[in-house]
Order: sequence, then structure tokens, then C-alpha cells
Amino acid sequence: MKRPPVRDDLALHPGYHSPQVEVDVRLNTNEAPEPPPEGFREALADELARIDWHRYPDRAATELREAIAAHHGVRASQVFVANGSNEVLQTLCLTYGGAGRSVATFEPTYALHSHIPKITGTAVKSGERGPDFALDMDEVRRVLTEDDPTITFLCSPNNPTGMIETEETVRAVADLAPGLVVVDEAYGQFAPWSALELVDDEAPLVVTRTYSKTWSMAASRLGYLVGPSWLVEELQEVVLPYHLDSVKQVAGRVALRYEAEMRRRVSDLVEERGRVSAALADLPVTIWPSGANFILFRPETLDGDDVWKRLVERSVLVRNCASWPRLDGCLRLTLGTPAEDDRFLEALTDILETP
Ligand code: PMP
Repeated sequence: MKRPPVRDDLALHPGYHSPQVEVDVRLNTNEAPEPPPEGFREALADELARIDWHRYPDRAATELREAIAAHHGVRASQVFVANGSNEVLQTLCLTYGGAGRSVATFEPTYALHSHIPKITGTAVKSGERGPDFALDMDEVRRVLTEDDPTITFLCSPNNPTGMIETEETVRAVADLAPGLVVVDEAYGQFAPWSALELVDDEAPLVVTRTYSKTWSMAASRLGYLVGPSWLVEELQEVVLPYHLDSVKQVAGRVALRYEAEMRRRVSDLVEERGRVSAALADLPVTIWPSGANFILFRPETLDGDDVWKRLVERSVLVRNCASWPRLDGCLRLTLGTPAEDDRFLEALTDILETP
């Protein structure tokens, strides 16, 4: 058999992997620790009973986009929905990237901000963050002027560092960017401000959001962006017809009824983050202050990769960033329930005390 060769530019890139290891305590993919609130499943089942299963879904996802627009106080024409915010990012790259074009990222940041451009044939120009992982405006200026990217990615709070970009920084980057600015706010509910305030039909800036984290709906793969109406129309031309199934359109609408509960959970997680950070501060690890539902840390007395393996042996899974560029020896903990976090803290303490 003659196997067809994979596209030359793809064969070079390793894929994106977050191992799905069977463990008791899964704290590796920044999901919500709790299932959706009481009442969600019944309300959803009720709505699902009314789906016309023999018909294609509403291609424009009108009701879902109206609900999201009402949630943010924008117009439905400014909302684009897709299968996870990753598909939103992919559609942006398919629409504005491609051969001869580039995107800018500032590393370390969310791995898919460079992976998705690569699989869509878009060049990636990576700038460096400062030693504390803050954006360095001289470096931003250099990348944006030298490389002329059609898309500039920001991430606030930034995955995996947890750092929130200030309004001043995002405005400054938007002023310098020669093309579209994408502010990835997958963890936006944890931040004190949102770049949604900057969205305007006259500005080439979009904000991406997801249902996978604070809305406890990672199983459903649903994300969206808020941006200029002309951009939403252009994305609609590129994305596959009927890309968002009816079940998901309904689930996204129903979830928004539980906004108060979502906010309560966010504030519980912020409190839990304080508790876990304080406990980590007593151990020989470096931690980076986080504005999200995860904490980046680096064991100082043992190798990060080794600590990760020994946590897995104790049935606790965190994200292993130890071999990622610029994150030498680092691990990322997703905040879980207090009981899960205690399991993690006990296991880590035990490992660090018995070298
Ligand atoms: N952006 C960031 C910064 C993320 O961390 C993630 C999830 N890891 C995503 C986007 C993708 O989220 P979704 O599940 O909506 O595709």
C-alpha cells in the first residue's frame, strides 16, 4: 500500500496532547470541578425533547447567539459560535491566516495559539515575555512591526501562567497591532475587567470565550467570540455549514440561565485558590500568582517531570509543563474541589519530603 504523505508543513509539527490518564484526582485540564448546577439536566432534557431530529440545526444559531448577546449586552450579529473556542480560533486562522500570512504570540502562552495557525498553514512569529511572564512592550513592538502579523494573540488570564493583562496593556497592543487582535478570555470570568469593553464595529479586536471552564460544560465543546459584525459575517462564510448541532445550541442557551450559580462558583474557586496558594507557599516550590482556576508552580528541590510521575503514582494528575520551552521544570495545577486539592497537597508534600 502506498500511504499518502501528510502535508509537508504538517509533518514537522508534533500534535497537541494532554494525556487522559486514569486517576482518582484529575487536575490537569482546567475544567470546572463540579457538574452543572441543580436543575440544568432537567431543563436541558425538557428542551431537547422538542428538537426536530430529522432537520438540520439552525445554521445561524440565532437563539443561542441572542442569548449570549443578551448575557454580554452586545448585538447577536457580534457573536460567532463554534465547537469550543478552539474551533473559533481555527475559524479565525482559516479566515485571516493562511499562506504568506502570520500570527504573533507571546510565549509562554496557550499552546493552541501556535498549533492552530500551523495546521492552517499560517506562519507563527513568537515574541518572548519578560522573566516574570509579563508582556514586554518593547518586544511586542518589535514583533508587531518586524513581522506584520495579520492576527495578534493575547490571552488573559494567560494559560499557563495565570497572569491577567491590564486594560492599559491590551489597549497598547491593540494600538500597535497591524491586523486583528484576539483576546482569548477562556478564563475571563476570573478577571476584574474584560476586553469585551473594547469590542466595537470600528475596531479589529475580538474576545473569545468558552463554556468549557466556568460553565461546567467541557463535555459539550462550545465556545464563541464577540467582535465586529462584519468579522462575524466573514467567519460564517468560512465555517462549515451547520457546524453547530442543535443539542449544543440548546445546551448553551440553558446554561446561561444559571449565571448567578456560575458566579458563586467562580468566587468559591478564587477563595480555594488562596487556600491552595498559601499551602504551596509552605513547600519548596516557586508559584506564580494566578488570576484563574489554575496555578503554575515549579518544585525547587526535585525535577518537575519526576514530581509529575510520582503524583500520577499517587493517582493525582496535574499538567506536566516541565519540558515545555520557557517552563523548565514547571507543573500546572487545576483547582479542584477542596477534597481533591487536599489529595494533591498531601501527595506533593509527601513527595517533596521524601526525595
Ligand atoms: N483558550 C485557552 C486559553 C484555553 O486554556 C483553552 C482550554 N484549554 C481553550 C482556549 C479551549 O477551550 P475550548 O474547550 O472552548 O476549546
